Amino acid sequence: MIRVGSGIDVHAFGPGDHVMLGGVRLAHTQGVRAHSDGDVLLHALCDALLGAAGLGDIGQHFPDSDPQWRGAASGQFVRHAVQLLAARGWQVVNADLTLLAEAPRVAGQRELIRASVAGLLGVAAEAVNLKATTTERLGFAGRGEGLAAMATVLIESNSVAPR
Ligand code: MG
Repeated sequence: MIRVGSGIDVHAFGPGDHVMLGGVRLAHTQGVRAHSDGDVLLHALCDALLGAAGLGDIGQHFPDSDPQWRGAASGQFVRHAVQLLAARGWQVVNADLTLLAEAPRVAGQRELIRASVAGLLGVAAEAVNLKATTTERLGFAGRGEGLAAMATVLIESNSVAPR
């Protein structure tokens, strides 16, 4: 059995000198406003994982109000989601991620981010794809007010009727 899930995440830029993307720290002229580390790629991925398994969304599992998750590395969210899926018989087949931002540009870090995300998911780097696009200077991303990410994942189970 297979299932698909999608996720989207947005964060505003704020004071700071780096942005976390896919678990990789990229130097930038601004930081990201967030309760956690504000990693839009991993937040979108986490929602895609939860969505594929019918497990709700990232806000339900990692509420902003819970001090346990304040300043958390978003890799923890992804690892936890993968564990929730595994407990129900699901494993990740592949993930396709898209970053929407004018900056930072990820071209030079693409393979590093792929490997980082693959490590969190427990899959080969080839099973993770990272795309990046600007929005042609349109909208909040185009004005450099923040950045967004979208994720799609496929999961599979060997059993006929996963829990
Ligand atoms: Mg987020």
